[in-house]
Amino acid sequence: MDNQQSTTNKSWETVIGVEIHIETNTKTKMFCGCSADYFGAKPNTHTCPVCLGLPGALPFINQEAIEKCIKIGLALGCSISEHSLFERKNYFYPDLPKGYQISQYRWPLCTNGTIEIDGEYGKKTIRINRAHQEEDTGKLTHIGSETFIDFNRSGLPLVEVVTEADFRNSEEVRDYAKKLQQIIKSIGVSEANMEKGDMRLEANVSVRPQGQEDLAPYRVELKNINSFKFIGDAIDYEVERQIKLLEKGEKITQHTRGYNERKKETFLQREKEEANDYRYFPEPDLPPLSVAKEEVEKIRAGLAELPGKKIANLEKIGVSEKVAVIITASDQKFDIFQEAITKIDSAEIAPLATFFVNQGSKSQSAEELLELFKSVTQQKSTQIQDEGELTKIAKEVIGENEKVIADYKSGKLNAVQILIGQLMKKTQGKADPIKAKNILVKLLS
Ligand code: ZN
Ligand code: MN
Repeated sequence: MDNQQSTTNKSWETVIGVEIHIETNTKTKMFCGCSADYFGAKPNTHTCPVCLGLPGALPFINQEAIEKCIKIGLALGCSISEHSLFERKNYFYPDLPKGYQISQYRWPLCTNGTIEIDGEYGKKTIRINRAHQEEDTGKLTHIGSETFIDFNRSGLPLVEVVTEADFRNSEEVRDYAKKLQQIIKSIGVSEANMEKGDMRLEANVSVRPQGQEDLAPYRVELKNINSFKFIGDAIDYEVERQIKLLEKGEKITQHTRGYNERKKETFLQREKEEANDYRYFPEPDLPPLSVAKEEVEKIRAGLAELPGKKIANLEKIGVSEKVAVIITASDQKFDIFQEAITKIDSAEIAPLATFFVNQGSKSQSAEELLELFKSVTQQKSTQIQDEGELTKIAKEVIGENEKVIADYKSGKLNAVQILIGQLMKKTQGKADPIKAKNILVKLLS
């Protein structure tokens, strides 16, 4: 299916919101002490009464998971709630032994962030509605007519990152998902490996008549897609499908679809699913989650700086975006520059950045960079730059070189070099040669 057609379709506008689940790399599960290192392990060997949903088992909150969720929130520029709440999301499915998933609904841990994306569509800010903490389900495997359940994954910490419906085509969604993956990896809270299922993509897709402000009265959820290519292909297929139905005058109802990678088409999974179907209510076995402001600040301070943030920070201290991009391209360059600017005056930061980039970032240490920079700037600062002073000296030189002046006026323009030589001699080589030449030429004309 070809997305050209849908994105250039004049009468319809595509509206997409994205939900991405990320399994964070904690040592133990979200609400019990089972080892979270389950990949490749024998089925049902990393389980206990809590993650098997046995009656009477009591969950407790994994602080490492909360810290990693906060890191994600901070990396996305979210506000971190001092008070949030775990709630039960009730639904029946064989991979969910308790009959409910512990999640966050009304009071999520992280809210209101943003991610910048940039592509053929231009620069765009995607609003993050929330990043909340929840738990993973078990895993079903279908072999022939039999289904097997492995609960090793049950209860693993999952962070769900939810955007506003800010996307208008599949390209933006792909770029967003890639950017999010990059951020998650760079802060070290998950490998975000899509093949292993550390990161799973979902998109809510609808189309509305071009120019309409209100959202369409339905949305179709494309669930659990595990590659950047497939999410884009699934969206493109779905947009085409919806436009065709709407143009035939049909009504589309809220429902969930999967994506068949082989047939390259989406297919119906479940009809109509709304929040009130889940009968959310506060988890009675867990206390409300409180996070002290100081705790958040500690996490913020320890968070590795992100590439985008590094660039923005350099821009704040006067470095141009172009230069900042080059300096932040390698950790080594960035570290050298960061160290160097602690030893200079703030007015020198921008010139130092430009100097560093102009020399091809050759310096191997902050000391080496500063030494070179200072030798060049010192040369400049002891130079005679003042036009009044240079004019005075130039006039003296002209007065003392009648023959050379005559040659110059008769057309030997090179004679001016002799005058410059005289001027440099008079100033013991301190005159700015370019300025001196300009002044001489002006006086002679
Ligand atoms: Zn367990
Ligand atoms: Mn979820």
